[in-house]
Amino acid sequence: MTKQLSSIGVLTSGGDAPGMNAAIRAVVRTCVHYGIKPYGISEGYQGLMEGKMELLNARSVANIINQGGTFLKSARCLEFRTPEGRQQAYDVFKEKGLDALVVIGGDGSFTGAKLFAEEFGVPVIGIPGTIDNDIYGTDFTIGYDTALNTVVEAVDKLRDTATSHNRLFFIEVMGRDAGFIALNTGIGCGAEEILIPEASRGLDHLVNSLERSGRAGKTSSIIIVAEGDKSGGAFELARQVEERLPNYDSKVTVLGHIQRGGSPSCADRVLASRLGVAAVKLLREGQSGVMVGIRNGHVVSTFLSDAISQKQGIDPGLLEVADIVSL
Ligand code: ADP
Repeated sequence: MTKQLSSIGVLTSGGDAPGMNAAIRAVVRTCVHYGIKPYGISEGYQGLMEGKMELLNARSVANIINQGGTFLKSARCLEFRTPEGRQQAYDVFKEKGLDALVVIGGDGSFTGAKLFAEEFGVPVIGIPGTIDNDIYGTDFTIGYDTALNTVVEAVDKLRDTATSHNRLFFIEVMGRDAGFIALNTGIGCGAEEILIPEASRGLDHLVNSLERSGRAGKTSSIIIVAEGDKSGGAFELARQVEERLPNYDSKVTVLGHIQRGGSPSCADRVLASRLGVAAVKLLREGQSGVMVGIRNGHVVSTFLSDAISQKQGIDPGLLEVADIVSL
């Protein structure tokens, strides 16, 4: 049976990711499609607590599908972590006449969303938006594909200078807890070694591999390091390798926040559009406390409790591929 909803709030929370705008647009237009009033809440949970929201329409989200970032703005809100903060948010939620909430963010945002749904019986649906791709329950998160393409473009440019000067380049990419970006861009860019938090193989392995590359006639190498790798980051790793291999001219580049920006890729726009539509449909079906995601090409839903507590593992087969093709 279809649940009668008169208004739905949508917010973006935590780390921003390209494609969040496309997701907001899809939520808003799906609401309009079904005759529901969509409220855009600014600055995540902080904006919810302070009542910073406005009624949107189909035209308010025109020309944003191609824009990175989030026009609703994102924020980190410490008060929402407290029962008092969430109570204040709920008071505003009721006062504004909202019936349900769509939260676009990462696992921190989903933890807040789950508590909010449980404590006040509010229907809440999560949409995974993070460049790290580290959310259980979806093969891809919104922003991940764009970030991959940004890294590949940057590393290709660094390779040009690496090969011109026989250099060893250590390139640090985002991924505090997960190596998805490092592993996939490492393969995509033809990196000689990839260091990720899930499979630290130590300094000896790296040094042996570089020596083997040298014997095989390679004169330059690209090492992709996830920021969460146990080695302590690209600078520390480069220092340790220089100690062991003093003849190498090594350089370090930390790509940093450039990975969060840029116009979303087509894949991210399509993913965001599909998940935005699905989120509103699930609310109309009376569902709550779940995240929408994509598995094997199909839209699926996962309990927020599972999305938060379970870990999305990397494919170990990709490590083997990386080793074989980097000979
Ligand atoms: P992300 O959603 O990208 O993982 P954060 O971890 O910073 O980003 O979380 C975003 C926001 O979600 C926080 O600023 C806070 O308002 C809310 N949040 C995070 N963790 C919790 C928690 N344990 N309880 C309640 N709210 C939380």
